[in-house]
Amino acid sequence: MKTAHVKRAFKYRFYPTDAQAAELSRTFGCVRKVYNLALAARTQAWTRQERVNYNQTSAMLTAWKKTEELAYLNDVSSVPLQQALRHLQTAFTKSRKSAEYTTSAFRFRDGKLTLAKMAEPLDIAWSRPLPEGASPSTVTVSQDAAGRWYVSLLCEDRSVQPLPATDAAVGVDVGLDHLLTLSTGEKISNPRHERPDRVRLAKAQRQLARKAKGDGANRAKARWKVAKVYARIVDRRRDHLHKLTTRLVRENQTIVIEDLAVRNMVKNGSLARAISDAAWSEFRSMLEYKAQWYGREVIAIDRWFPSSKLCSVCGTLRDKMPLSVREWTCDCGTTHDRDVNAAKNILAVGLTASVCGAGVRPQRSTPGGHSVMKQKPLRREP
Ligand SMILES: [Zn+2]
Repeated sequence: MKTAHVKRAFKYRFYPTDAQAAELSRTFGCVRKVYNLALAARTQAWTRQERVNYNQTSAMLTAWKKTEELAYLNDVSSVPLQQALRHLQTAFTKSRKSAEYTTSAFRFRDGKLTLAKMAEPLDIAWSRPLPEGASPSTVTVSQDAAGRWYVSLLCEDRSVQPLPATDAAVGVDVGLDHLLTLSTGEKISNPRHERPDRVRLAKAQRQLARKAKGDGANRAKARWKVAKVYARIVDRRRDHLHKLTTRLVRENQTIVIEDLAVRNMVKNGSLARAISDAAWSEFRSMLEYKAQWYGREVIAIDRWFPSSKLCSVCGTLRDKMPLSVREWTCDCGTTHDRDVNAAKNILAVGLTASVCGAGVRPQRSTPGGHSVMKQKPLRREP
């Protein structure tokens, strides 16, 4: 197998000086302005059944900069503005507060990153090292809703190599009591400390709701508090998911999941629901890109497959399986843990993926298609 040249984004928190924060906020504003202007121009062109390409929007940018009204666009680095135009062409939605710098607009030397229009390098918290000898090709700076600053460095990572093939395969069920249940019987809980944080989040939300008609300053403070607790929960989840997905991909050749948003995971609270939905889609996307790095395969099976109602030993399908039933005994005499049984069924369906039946439409996930290995038939788990 040829060596995979994988580009990876390494994201870190950083702490701008007041001058840097002001420069970046100005840049975000200009990026947003240019993006919106170009989007409007493109939409107008559409109504005349014309298309606007990158070179045309780039020419528009030059013209805008010459007007008195938009002269302030000259004050920031032009690269993030051009990058915004490039993203417009690829229908890539930009987040509200971010700016992208290519090599001509930053300097990376001796582990210090300095952006265009800035005198000082950024004060980055290097929470993990960049790969040996890595030099970033793109740098994206962003600020989240809680006001934290992040820088993401896109680097080629030569340390990523496909792992030796293995016969192991695993099915993953998204559980009610647990975050995930594996076909091996292992149950994986939510990150520690999440429960108290959820209580804090609910409290902060109630306070925000009470201040809905109050004065602006108090409301802003309450909103800030919700954003902060929410961000902390999401961060912990992400760390947890990174460890989990790395482990699953290292240990298994094939990972079978259900193709679902989130099924019955969270019963109440729209924010709590949002966290779980985000965690699930993040879990899937992490699994898929890591599988690509390491030469593994992720199979997603149809979400309507009755994984909970089917006995994984004898194949008997039950009519009903209320959510309250956590353990049950089949007529064949097997006693099942609900979630483990579901995970086993998910695995079995995924491994017979080529035999499509019973409304199951498996999708093999082979993004890019170059570093995913061709499979020999796999053993079913006992
Ligand atoms: Zn049975």
